[in-house]
Amino acid sequence: MPPITVPSHDHYDIVFIGGGSGGVAGSRRAAQYGKKVALIESTPKLGGTCVNVGCVPKKIMWHAADIADKIRHAKGYKFKGPGIGHPQFDWQTFKPQRDAYIRRLNGIYESNVAKEGVDYFRGFGRVVSPSEVEVTNPDGTKVVLKTDYVCVATGGRPTFPTEQQIPGASLGIDSDGFFDLEDQPKRVAVVGAGYIAVELAGVLNTLGTETHLVIRQDHFLRTFDPTIYETLGNWADHTGIKIHKKSKVVKVEGTKGQTLTVHTDRGEKIEVDTLIWAIGRHANTEGLGVEELGVKLDKKGDIVTNEWQESNVKGILAIGDVQGRALLTPVAIAAGRRLSNRLFGPPKFKNDKLSYEDIPTVVFSHPPIGTVGLTEPEARAKYGADVKIYKSSFRGALLLNEEKVVGIHVIGLGSDEVIQGFAVALKMGATKEDLDNTVAIHPTSGEG
Ligand code: FAD
Ligand code: NDP
Repeated sequence: MPPITVPSHDHYDIVFIGGGSGGVAGSRRAAQYGKKVALIESTPKLGGTCVNVGCVPKKIMWHAADIADKIRHAKGYKFKGPGIGHPQFDWQTFKPQRDAYIRRLNGIYESNVAKEGVDYFRGFGRVVSPSEVEVTNPDGTKVVLKTDYVCVATGGRPTFPTEQQIPGASLGIDSDGFFDLEDQPKRVAVVGAGYIAVELAGVLNTLGTETHLVIRQDHFLRTFDPTIYETLGNWADHTGIKIHKKSKVVKVEGTKGQTLTVHTDRGEKIEVDTLIWAIGRHANTEGLGVEELGVKLDKKGDIVTNEWQESNVKGILAIGDVQGRALLTPVAIAAGRRLSNRLFGPPKFKNDKLSYEDIPTVVFSHPPIGTVGLTEPEARAKYGADVKIYKSSFRGALLLNEEKVVGIHVIGLGSDEVIQGFAVALKMGATKEDLDNTVAIHPTSGEG
């Protein structure tokens, strides 16, 4: 069903602003309880960051790169034939195929919200009061939706340096621009040290692009367990990523789409054809009207929420990336569903909320990383000398306090898949003995 421009109800129970992971999940759950629900999305593509310019196209590219890796290794396993050992990726024809898959997902999202009876508006949402949301439709017409609750689920977007901060910065692109690339860069510089920088650098390097990773410190992924970032750092070196440590970009020169020279404060001049900024993300709150209503934002500009996803203004709630805690799709989805459970569900859900503790996460690097719980420095800070660390050659660390597992960090083939099960164990309070009592599956990565 296409989006609507005129409300079908005089009054809604809840209006979600933002049709991404959180907004779609929260609105569908509320509608499943028979509530009158509106969902507003400003772009023509329902699904948000994850579906359009995040997890989904990223994971597709990761798979492509993983296959390239296997073709490379196939030679060692004595596979023969033209191309074995020398993967040749046709980015130009793969990209439209990937885009078509995403368009199908956009359609599935639209039919899912329609099936639940959610009123879907394709427009820009602005909070005019805690009980009114204005929608500006694509044709410029405006409607005001009246509601009991407003849930802000507007997500975030990439942070881009200004020309004042770094002359020539605009010659670069961000992760959104990466997904627009029609052709594979021959030489790329990725600036940043978080998830996105590491994942994009890994994909490009594995697909055969000369890849430079420019980081401000000695290591990337510094908030992860040291065993993990050190192992991945060594592996990135080994697989040919050129890591420029303790380097800040001071200037960029050249012509977009042709040759760019990236100057660092260490005097290096890195010649590339594509520059990608991956230096973090910030919340979408511009023009949203929440600040005018006194909604508290933190220093970074994220909406401050309590454990119930409530802002300081009664009736205005926020979920997902816009509230700055654990910027992950399953987190936005769980927060949205649990919020709707609590507000509109049966009595057993009257205290439903998302716990932000021990959230497992994966970095789709090459090889991938899976992690849950405290890192070694965090565990030592919390439990001091009581922490015991078990490391295994599968490149992992198990952190224990009085034999209770408080952190699990793995890197290597299959880490992305095995961490989910270990996260359940950790959440249930597993001990070292529990893990020892579980017969291993051999030969697998998980048994390590
Ligand atoms: P979003 O999905 O960003 O949705 C917000 C929506 O609100 C957008 O569609 C936007 O257009 C809309 N909007 C904004 N302002 C308005 C307005 N005023 N009116 C109407 N609509 C508005 N997470 C993982 O768990 N695993 C991964 O592998 C992963 N990979 C990622 C890779 C990349 C490159 C990126 C950028 C992110 C990745 N993430 C990943 C993070 C994940 O995408 C986000 O955490 C998730 O999308 C957040 O969901 P959300 O609903 O809060 O916001
Ligand atoms: P992150 O916050 O993860 O990392 C950005 C890093 O870039 C910073 O930690 C910092 O590292 C470095 N940095 C910041 N500013 C600058 C600067 N001016 N110059 C150079 N480096 C800088 O942000 P991302 O954009 O990578 O990702 C945003 C979020 O999206 C992630 O935190 C994650 O929650 C989510 N995501 C999840 C994925 C997954 O689940 N697999 C994949 C992709 C994103 P330092 O201080 O060390 O320099």
